[in-house]
Amino acid sequence: MTYNKKSIEDICVKDKKVLVRCDFNVPQDENLNITDETRILGALPTIKYLKEHGAAVILCSHLGRPKGEFNPKYSLAPVAKRLGELLGCEVKMATDVIGESAHAMAASLKSGEIGMIENVRFHKEEEKNDAAFAKELASMAEIYVNDAFGTAHRAHASTAGVANYLPAVCGFLIQKEISIMGKALSDPKRPFVAVLGGAKVSDKIGVINNLLEKVDTIIIGGAMAYTFIKAQGGSIGTSRCEDDKLEYASEMLKKAADKGVRFLLPVDNLAADHFAADATPVVVDSEHIPENMMGLDIGPKTVALYEEAIRDAGTVVWNGPMGVFEFEAFAGGTRSVAAAVANSNAISIIGGGDSAAAVEQLGFADKMTHISTGGGASLEFLEGLELPGIACLQDK
Ligand code: AMP
Repeated sequence: MTYNKKSIEDICVKDKKVLVRCDFNVPQDENLNITDETRILGALPTIKYLKEHGAAVILCSHLGRPKGEFNPKYSLAPVAKRLGELLGCEVKMATDVIGESAHAMAASLKSGEIGMIENVRFHKEEEKNDAAFAKELASMAEIYVNDAFGTAHRAHASTAGVANYLPAVCGFLIQKEISIMGKALSDPKRPFVAVLGGAKVSDKIGVINNLLEKVDTIIIGGAMAYTFIKAQGGSIGTSRCEDDKLEYASEMLKKAADKGVRFLLPVDNLAADHFAADATPVVVDSEHIPENMMGLDIGPKTVALYEEAIRDAGTVVWNGPMGVFEFEAFAGGTRSVAAAVANSNAISIIGGGDSAAAVEQLGFADKMTHISTGGGASLEFLEGLELPGIACLQDK
């Protein structure tokens, strides 16, 4: 899927009311203090641009899972307050989403001013992409901007529905996501290496299948690897495995062979006799995982093999950890792969979710070309699926 969408730079926003869908789904502690403001910081370039170019900016987002009901625990007011501090100006906060307060706030906003409506998921109509709700949201503005990549794979009222009623373009965050990932998929610098890990083959079936059409090398790690090893006839002990995906795994191995794609699986593993942070890691070859042991990380020979494959890559796309990185004893494989990607000269694209968290936690974030802000959305992008929150925007 390649997108060539209009951005806020392609339209005139001066003196226009602009509804901007952001991803302000920030983590909070029990006192509702924001514990990680990365997503707010990520939204700043688009908001600043709109403010500086004379738009009246109406921000909206979801936060948590309020299940269609008003709930102060999920209010966006703390986000509005923090955003105001970061921008050095007032961010007017409405007390509802499409009610009197929101409409009054939107109507009173002057050019260069910023306001925010409440959590769109306070209405169950949001996730149902209800047309009347989308129309109400749209009625407050003259232009719609989507900058919430993390929810772009969802067809909700505020992520896609509103585009039926307003001219719709993307903000800088979405623009960056689609240009970097789009280029990697359509015209990658080669060799193109995909590193896929994590818990389940079933989550990444579409991604593996699509990437096999495009990459030169696929590297598999994490629990996922054991389904492939078993499909090849290996004995995997008590390692996690999806028996109903063995056939699929064989098909993918065959497809890789037919297409001349190098398909790398772990040759050795760090295994343990139980799943726990204090379990003692033992190095075992993939062909000989003892019956009572489970693979919890890639082993040293595999690390060397994967490092070698990543070293000369032109493009690396990485999604999913190589092992149970939450346990220090089994974090080494993920750390080594992160270091290899960071130290290569490749264009490096890190899928959101666990791999993004691992890269941040391990201190390699600033060495990557791009860390996607959306886990599910980036996976669907790599699968080649159409993302409703992007497809609905105007083409250039
Ligand atoms: P995902 O959400 O699919 O990216 O999977 C991430 C999860 O996979 C993490 O919580 C890891 O702990 C887990 N994981 C990775 N490798 C293994 C493994 N060998 N056995 C069990 N779980 C694993």
